[in-house]
Amino acid sequence: MRRKFAAGNWKMNGLAADLAELEKMVAAKPAPSVDTAICGPATLVHRMAALGWPVGGEDCHAVASGAHTGDISAEMLADAGASYVITGHSERRADHGETDADVNAKTRAAWRAGLTAILCIGETEAEYRAGDTLDVLHRQMAGSMPEGCTGENTVLAYEPVWAIGTGLTPTRDEIGAVHNALRDALIERFGTETGLAIRILYGGSVKAANAAEIFGVADVDGALVGGASLKADDFLPIVAALE
Ligand code: 13P
Repeated sequence: MRRKFAAGNWKMNGLAADLAELEKMVAAKPAPSVDTAICGPATLVHRMAALGWPVGGEDCHAVASGAHTGDISAEMLADAGASYVITGHSERRADHGETDADVNAKTRAAWRAGLTAILCIGETEAEYRAGDTLDVLHRQMAGSMPEGCTGENTVLAYEPVWAIGTGLTPTRDEIGAVHNALRDALIERFGTETGLAIRILYGGSVKAANAAEIFGVADVDGALVGGASLKADDFLPIVAALE
């Protein structure tokens, strides 16, 4: 069975003083039945990992090393103690023009370094309004997910762009319909065993108040949480809702 997974994404937030929040999370010892991770800024990954909480990067370069000023490789993240890396977040796709092909290469880089990729897909508000959600997601999956995805090396995160940081979420039925379609697509592409093993997280304005409702939807295996992962008091109830 797929293990539930609560992953945080600190985005471009977090100074040394904020490690106190992660210390609080560690001290709370969430149930071992739920996988947890915080994906943090590159500057903090090493110190976060040293606290004994599973940690991820928020992006990685496709190659292991070289003349790419300012970039971070998957190998560097692994060396700093990370076990995960987010690939294809909509903010990277929008701010840095990352294409599905880029995300595909970054995901393979994550695997090369022994990291699990948390691979993000999601439609924009205009695509949602046009009724194009599933077409967009299928296209992003086809381009972004490399051959060789497994339940161990990849977690798929469905994050509607219009739900990120807005307080808006799709309805339960909408989330259910999307996750169901994603599950079918995973099975079709990777076979039944692998298709059933890959976890699908929902992301976008998840908070303590709506977590239980969202986690009650079939095929939602957990969440990728932005703003509500910055504080232990906000994140721990979300983890608890998965127990
Ligand atoms: P929020 O939870 O702040 O809406 O962000 C979601 C997200 O982008 C996580 O990757």
